[in-house]
Amino acid sequence: MSLKSVNDILGVLEQQAKWQEQPFQQLLQTWPEIVGAVVAAHTRPLSIQRNVLWVATSSAAWAQNMTFGRQTLLLKLNQKLPKPLADIRFSTASWQLPPQVEQQPTVLPQEHPSYLGDVNSFRRDVTPHINNANTAFGSWAKTMQARSHNLPLCPQCQCPTPPGELQRWRVCSICAAKQLSNNFEPKRVT
Ligand SMILES: [Zn+2]
Repeated sequence: MSLKSVNDILGVLEQQAKWQEQPFQQLLQTWPEIVGAVVAAHTRPLSIQRNVLWVATSSAAWAQNMTFGRQTLLLKLNQKLPKPLADIRFSTASWQLPPQVEQQPTVLPQEHPSYLGDVNSFRRDVTPHINNANTAFGSWAKTMQARSHNLPLCPQCQCPTPPGELQRWRVCSICAAKQLSNNFEPKRVT
């Protein structure tokens, strides 16, 4: 086989590839105007295989609706396409898969501006929030406890007493009041 004939074959294959690719590219361009904006938002042509157009739909209901109306759609599409389609198949299967996923640059999810964190780290964010409430209460209780523990005790009733009261009456204000009512003169500290 001569180099020329190899090039000829490659040329033919290239032409064939272009020719096979063309109807689908044309279809992609005319799809929104044929089906309308609403349908276009819920459908995405995937490929043409053996004259059958494969279309992804956003839901099973859309797949069903489109399947019912596909004969009308086929007529409209075939008026625009160089090579008529035999049928259209609708499926939700490839809807989640973006068509050019391989060509897209790899972006780490945490680098995406919409990144909210994965479910686990989200839970990790929530748990300390609950713990914080408990910790806040715990530390408050501890502070209150420590405060009363640090207070000197009234020698009479053994209750935590502000130092000012002890300085003044040597006992707590309650005991001082009792002593006063008993006509007992509290000792004053100079
Ligand atoms: Zn007391």
